[in-house]
Amino acid sequence: MIVMKFGGTSLEDAAAIRRAGEIIRSRLAQRPAVIVSAMAGVTDQLLAMSQAAGAGEREPALKLARAVRERHYTTAGELLGTALFTRFHAELEEDFDALEELLRGIAAVGECTARSSDQVLSFGEVVSSQMMAEAWSAHGLNTRHVNAGQCIVTDATHGKAVPQFDETNANLQRAVAPLLADSAVPVMGGFIASSKNGVPTTIGRGGSDFSAAIVGAGLNAERIEIWTDVDGMKTTDPRLVPGARRIKIIGFDEASELAYFGAKVLHPATLLPAIQKNIPVQVLNSRNPSNPGTQIAARAPRCRNIFKAIAVKRRITIVDLVATRMLMAHGFLHAVFEVFDRHRCPVDMVSTSEVSVSLTVDSSEAIPAIASDLQKLADVKYSGRKAIICLVGESLREKPGIAGQVFGCIPDVNVRMISQGASEINISFVIDEDDVQRAVERLHAKFFAELDPESFD
Ligand code: ADP
Ligand code: ASP
Ligand code: MG
Repeated sequence: MIVMKFGGTSLEDAAAIRRAGEIIRSRLAQRPAVIVSAMAGVTDQLLAMSQAAGAGEREPALKLARAVRERHYTTAGELLGTALFTRFHAELEEDFDALEELLRGIAAVGECTARSSDQVLSFGEVVSSQMMAEAWSAHGLNTRHVNAGQCIVTDATHGKAVPQFDETNANLQRAVAPLLADSAVPVMGGFIASSKNGVPTTIGRGGSDFSAAIVGAGLNAERIEIWTDVDGMKTTDPRLVPGARRIKIIGFDEASELAYFGAKVLHPATLLPAIQKNIPVQVLNSRNPSNPGTQIAARAPRCRNIFKAIAVKRRITIVDLVATRMLMAHGFLHAVFEVFDRHRCPVDMVSTSEVSVSLTVDSSEAIPAIASDLQKLADVKYSGRKAIICLVGESLREKPGIAGQVFGCIPDVNVRMISQGASEINISFVIDEDDVQRAVERLHAKFFAELDPESFD
């Protein structure tokens, strides 16, 4: 069997949904299980609703909910035709009534907890998965809707819940494998799950890719296909450099680093379950399905270019700690990391000198509280609006003097931190967000002017 995941950008309207249906039809012989995201932009809108409701702004929240409801009604109407839509309308209505009810409750309390936020966010995939299953069935595919909340089990870390693989795999074998054996096409929402006691959770923004890998690993898929709106993974974000080129084949480790350091085309956790089971992942374009996309495989062939791609992670904050007396003291770094751990705040980059430690974290509302805890250990300064630029390539291992070439082409950009990590396949550094565009343009022009045709197109 294979897993096919369609992102929101591949499900933005009725035409896109029909196109996705045709792509599924072309793969029926390979027994696909399909994972779908919410329609494009819906999760952002749900987030805005939950925030408005949490601030006590009931009417703006409900207005947004009504707009999302209308969009789904219109799309379902176009896809299903009058007779089928009349029946399906009742199901959609029930979901959207429940969403509005929930928003009223949140607005009345004037606070949106992480748990309530997950419940609101889950509606995007709840309704999209039902709608896609109906629409593709109306177009002749033998689809069956599978409730993701009854299959994917996580812990209760709302917003970024961690999958519990044993339970999840057992559920997938029970609920999904028999459908495949029956030649049906299971259709399940990505991103959403439930904790052990049945409370809705989500597995992190962009997490439908991760859902696809969880399902692929649980069902021992031969391949996982990530269908999106670009011709695969590119040498950098095409929105930044329109001339970015397609990577034909890339190793698991290179792709993981790129995803981790901001290449939005793939969620950072996606590859872990696939790596464990050695399942190849392909990134493909639903608007251009004949393009071969990017193949992510255990090992990539040797590449003449030093780098495979440049990733950018924005909204980073640098935290600087200065502690003249304590830095070298036993247990100091442990105490520092303990603070980040307590706030459940992952640290990306670290650099130390004799008297100072600098770290980077994703910018968030928690930073003032973290800084205030750190203040007990050292003098603390933090500054936001930073970005991590990460250049990734296997060939970096073998070639000396690369860092000089990287920084030599951006002499006028203020570099705040540098890391050439233990993985030996990336060089990362931190700059101001305002410098991202020109830095990436120049690096791309330098390192991708000539391309190894085995690896790039
Ligand atoms: P989906 O809805 O399919 O999950 P996303 O918006 O999450 O789509 O991811 C696709 C987008 O990722 C592309 O439109 C592109 O702008 C962006 N992107 C960032 N870095 C890269 C990269 N290196 N290669 C391709 N796309 C990238
Ligand atoms: N809909 C979710 C999001 O926008 C998950 C996804 O699209 O992968 O974050
Ligand atoms: Mg995505």
